[in-house]
Amino acid sequence: MSLISFLNPLSNDGQGIVKKYADLNEVFSHNDELIEIAVHSNRQTISDSDKIPETIGDLAVNRIKWYIERKNNKDFNPNDYAYLFNEDIYIYDTIAFHMIAQALASKFRPNSREVRLFVESQGFLIEDRLTKLIASARVETVEEILGQLLTQNDLEWSFLKDLIASKKLSLCDLVLDNGEIVLDREEFVYNFGDNFRDRSPDRIYDILIGNSLKELILTKMIMQSTEDYIKRISEMLSIVEVHPMIEQLAELLGETISETMAQYSSYYGSAGIGSMKIGKLIREAFPPCIANTVDGVSSGGRNDAIVLLLTSFVSYARLYPGIFGSEGGVKVSDIDSNLSITMNEILPLIYEAADNCTPPLFEDQPQEKINITAKLGFGMHEEPDLENEGETTWYTPMSCEKIQMHLPQLCQKNKDCQKINNPLSYYSRKKWILNKEGKLESSEDNSSTDSSSNSTDSEDS
Ligand code: SF4
Repeated sequence: MSLISFLNPLSNDGQGIVKKYADLNEVFSHNDELIEIAVHSNRQTISDSDKIPETIGDLAVNRIKWYIERKNNKDFNPNDYAYLFNEDIYIYDTIAFHMIAQALASKFRPNSREVRLFVESQGFLIEDRLTKLIASARVETVEEILGQLLTQNDLEWSFLKDLIASKKLSLCDLVLDNGEIVLDREEFVYNFGDNFRDRSPDRIYDILIGNSLKELILTKMIMQSTEDYIKRISEMLSIVEVHPMIEQLAELLGETISETMAQYSSYYGSAGIGSMKIGKLIREAFPPCIANTVDGVSSGGRNDAIVLLLTSFVSYARLYPGIFGSEGGVKVSDIDSNLSITMNEILPLIYEAADNCTPPLFEDQPQEKINITAKLGFGMHEEPDLENEGETTWYTPMSCEKIQMHLPQLCQKNKDCQKINNPLSYYSRKKWILNKEGKLESSEDNSSTDSSSNSTDSEDS
């Protein structure tokens, strides 16, 4: 029973634990039993008392911190969080999970960076916890949890449509037989056994399905359920008052996420080689193609120059100049959480450039405003709104090659364009040069460049 809620806090077992043991007034109360479990967890770091959670609130915060550190910190020490893998902690861990969900739902949007981090952290916790189980317990537990999650006998692929739509799972991950997902070994051997002559069907089953596909489905289903759970709480909280302890936990989670992310985030450049920090836009550092676009484009290529080239360039140059050195998957609100930079700096510059065109872009094609919003990742709407973020993808800047192919009149190379293959690389490098020459005014702007900008990147859009 403990393993079920340890892996799936939303299971009936998990809900039962919350009903029986959770007390919101105790979120920040010193908890001797929790400390005892943490201290006696195998390999747990105990030399530093800061590593030991003293309250359920600490445990909740550390659950998220663990994920950010595990993902970003090159010197991450798993022993600092060994208690998260001690099954004895399952009651407190389950309560912490539900409290985090409530806290995030009370303060952040369902598709916010904070909620995404929590959902991802739950997926990674499940994966890591499974790897620490002995083989037989691992297989047995996965079967039991999947049995609870997959409530149909004949499992149509459409049962997992939400996972496929949200790209948590791909149809290619699944083995289908007439639209039904095959997970059972005997069923696989019975239906497909005759198709394999040189290899044992059991071996093929282990390669294609085995426990790994079951674990993948289980993990992604729990992540999806976590997301859905937070959405449901958000809706409920519009009519119910939030408990003060949950409000406090939400504040703490928000602060911890911002501080820890700032420490490792690639928005602030690659760790160890300086800071490619976000900063005010420096027009003097714009490459000729961008400067020409801002000055206005006449008819040919006008729409693409504003909507495709300038929108992506300005938004990334201002918010996330390190995009090409990162894993991607970032949204505007991850950096500009209330969209104030987007609305007050990025869009005005794009609209100014649109107005400088001949004829002015929105005069004859006002619908292009919608396309600009879409290229920033906010769907087909007149203006960016947090509610719509994620409906489209934040479009990355065009490469020089594409610009030269589609908008050749804008590419009027200068000496700084040498070895450059993307206007964003030009911008970062030029800022670095201006900074070195002492030509950047504010300290914020000065910090926005570094030696890493002195390289070219090979990314394309
Ligand atoms: S070489 Fe690249 S950065 Fe320079 S003007 Fe041409 S397109 Fe722009």
